[in-house]
Amino acid sequence: MKDDAKLPQLGALDPFEEKHAMLAAIIASTDDTIISKTLEGIITSWNPAAERMFGYTEREAIGQHITLIIPPERLDEEAFIIGQVAKGEKVVHFETVRQAKNGTMVPISLTVSPIHNSEGKIIGASKIARDISDQKIAAERDGVLAAIVDSSDDTILSKTLDGIITSWNKAAVKMFGHTEAEAVGKHISLIIPADRLNEETFIIGEVRKGNKIDHFQTLRLAKNGSLIPISLSVSPVTDDKGKIIGASKIARDISKEQTSQQEIGKLYEHLKELNAKKDEFIALASHELKTPLTSINGYLQLLELHLSQEKPKDFLQRAQQQLKKLTSLVDELLDVSKIEAGKLHFAAEDFNICNVAKDAVGLISHTNTAHSITLHSTISECIIKGDAHRIEQVIINLLTNAIRYAPDSYQIEVYITADEHGVKLGVKDYGIGIASEKLEHIFSRYYRVDDDNAKVSGLGIGLYLCHEIVTRHNGKIWAESEPGKGSTFWFRLPY
Ligand code: ADP
Repeated sequence: MKDDAKLPQLGALDPFEEKHAMLAAIIASTDDTIISKTLEGIITSWNPAAERMFGYTEREAIGQHITLIIPPERLDEEAFIIGQVAKGEKVVHFETVRQAKNGTMVPISLTVSPIHNSEGKIIGASKIARDISDQKIAAERDGVLAAIVDSSDDTILSKTLDGIITSWNKAAVKMFGHTEAEAVGKHISLIIPADRLNEETFIIGEVRKGNKIDHFQTLRLAKNGSLIPISLSVSPVTDDKGKIIGASKIARDISKEQTSQQEIGKLYEHLKELNAKKDEFIALASHELKTPLTSINGYLQLLELHLSQEKPKDFLQRAQQQLKKLTSLVDELLDVSKIEAGKLHFAAEDFNICNVAKDAVGLISHTNTAHSITLHSTISECIIKGDAHRIEQVIINLLTNAIRYAPDSYQIEVYITADEHGVKLGVKDYGIGIASEKLEHIFSRYYRVDDDNAKVSGLGIGLYLCHEIVTRHNGKIWAESEPGKGSTFWFRLPY
């Protein structure tokens, strides 16, 4: 080292010189900044640590006034320090700020002692300065953390691994009613109901293993004896070497959430009850409606046999048409209630779906002369196992919808294709179409697209039934559509 080279060889000196050399070596090698100055403030020594701290070399500093490193607004501190030193007193751990050569401010802790000459007269001062930036940052950080903890609406407390409370914030005072003075130093069982003490053993066990506990819902005891439902998060607290020394707890009062959850639960139950009642009513109403409808139908048929005049016959046919519509609506409602009650049963017989489709197309074409339905089939036979009547119901439903929702177009296409997995059937119209965001809902019970189709009457159950029937045959139903251009409803059934 350069400085060592200047030092005289120890051992070749007298004891006084030896001591002096030793001190010089210590000063040169210490991490603390050591500076000396005269009572007038002229710097007389400046060690390597001072160079590192303030950026001035020994050569630049010695002979300069100490104000070299004192920020202008702190000049009167110097008068105070020199005043103390002149009286022969030490200034210990004086926290202040000094300015480095590059202008940065260095927070330091200063200890200043008088220097006496051999006659005991005070001739100057020695200063030891220690950089406390890190300490300052840590203290500031601790201050911010303490302020956060104190102002938090959540209860935050800490405890040792033995369960002794070590901190207790304002929210904890509010939640439990114990003041900080009453709680700190006490065992955490202060707020644990007797029948839940074993929870603490579990929590501490987890904390010791270094585990966190999140959102543990439990009850804690307030000073006034009331029980508070809380959600608890507990984390291990470690010292600067990483050793677990305690636990921090954050507790949130969940009484309100619990009450609202209970209320939601009650509402849900109520809703379920109402829904069951509605299903019951629909089942009963459709059943009751069905009986008179069947007899009206019978009487109308009898009447038809006995009528010879054209005009009343026409009226009669219209009445029969309306009756048919009403009957199919009631049938659909009845089916819905059967689905809800899990009582919709299906036959399991082999049938040729091509024939079923042909029949359905024939039936609908016959009663809807304003539309032309063309059947495009790549096959003439395709045997499926299931309920032919229900599958026909699906096709009729899709065809009826194609007619109802395409009042201004003439053409309707029906496609049948088959592959090794099964058969695929599509009904295509050139009508009003369905917006893409509505497509996913159209198979839901009672769902109706509420824009252009407001003119078309319906209950929103036809597609729901189709979906149920196809799904119960292990198939799949879906729709492709473009508003204004038309829709194609597809379903696929396995063999
Ligand atoms: P609805 O009796 O109301 O027609 P559906 O369950 O058969 O009940 O159909 C549900 C909704 O899907 C209808 O209200 C209609 O908005 C829409 N929809 C069904 N088929 C078509 C179609 N071919 N073209 C356009 N919209 C359709």
